[in-house]
Amino acid sequence: MRKLEDTYQHKGLRKKLIDQLRTKGITSELVLEAMYNIPRHFFLDSAFDKIAYEDRAFPIAADQTISQPYTVAYQTQLLNIHRNDKVLEIGTGSAYQACVLAEMGAWIYTVERQRKLFEMHKSFFFKGKYPNIKFFYGDGFEGLATYAPFDKILITAAAPFIPPKLVEQLKTGGLMVLPVDEGNMQRMLRITKKADGSYVQEWFDYFSFVPMLKGKNN
Ligand code: SAH
Repeated sequence: MRKLEDTYQHKGLRKKLIDQLRTKGITSELVLEAMYNIPRHFFLDSAFDKIAYEDRAFPIAADQTISQPYTVAYQTQLLNIHRNDKVLEIGTGSAYQACVLAEMGAWIYTVERQRKLFEMHKSFFFKGKYPNIKFFYGDGFEGLATYAPFDKILITAAAPFIPPKLVEQLKTGGLMVLPVDEGNMQRMLRITKKADGSYVQEWFDYFSFVPMLKGKNN
């Protein structure tokens, strides 16, 4: 197995990345601190070691991507995470985003439809550090009815529409953050669920995500 080392050089590059995120408009110190604490290069192939702290997405297994740090920070900030929040994440990917949420003290239920990525996380190198992350293999459009309701739901793939089952699995007053597909780009949406089951929508900036696809992939 690959040796995981977090050197002073990595920490220095990470500090620079955090400063860049601040310049780009991320204001939540809780989010910035969590991202400073997590060695992003651990989640990438060693070939990316030198560039792991550039503010860009990178390829991971199964033709998927680890989101750009700015995108991770942006979505996490919109979720307004509190300690002990119960969070459903759709699209585990590299599990970097799940770790950022776990580092903030939330309980994470993360779902991935690519079997290869799910299998990789069975020997997850951060299992000891983050026992508050549970991994699932499934279709995110279905959510996790058994574990519902959730305080927060995060979709990290381009959603063609607001998945109705996920709205059902959100607590009253709960937040869901998702990039909604508008053709070439996705617009970030946050919904707040009301007591009558309906929700309020707030629209934010445009981003680019890999598609949220139906069903599981073996
Ligand atoms: N949060 C990830 C980003 C991964 S990219 C990270 O931090 O690295 C989006 C991921 O969503 C991909 O791994 C893709 O396979 C997954 N995905 C797409 N559609 C899905 C669905 N319906 N259910 C679960 N995962 C899905």
